[in-house]
Amino acid sequence: MEEIAFRRDERKEIYPTIENFYKFCGMGKLMAVRCSRCGRLVLPPRPMCPECYSTDLGWIQLSGRGRLETYSEVYVPPKNFASKSPYIIGIVRLAEGVALPGQIIVDRGEKAEVGMELRVDFESAPAEGWPQWPRYFFRPVDRK
Ligand SMILES: [Zn+2]
Repeated sequence: MEEIAFRRDERKEIYPTIENFYKFCGMGKLMAVRCSRCGRLVLPPRPMCPECYSTDLGWIQLSGRGRLETYSEVYVPPKNFASKSPYIIGIVRLAEGVALPGQIIVDRGEKAEVGMELRVDFESAPAEGWPQWPRYFFRPVDRK
């Protein structure tokens, strides 16, 4: 795997930014940051805790498992996503308690359902066009 250059702070820690969140996605990892002072999980990662304003945050890897909390089917997409229409955008409540919006990819003929179990998956950045960062999305957990 190619070496990924993270932006780091003065302590050489990987800086808690969206940019670095997507770099982790490129490595197949769904990451959040946890506040060292109050314990709050912050996702998407931000440089400051929204609860206690501490800037002492450390990365943790999430399980990538969760449940669909709500969703919407998009039939009139922005131009760059026209080829993917219709597609599903949902809010996923992760096992760790934080919610994350994302695309939900189901098989043809399968319907999204509130409460369905999902797992994260990743796709590398497209060679051209927009957006220029790796993508995460969610799929139903494989059923027996
Ligand atoms: Zn905090």
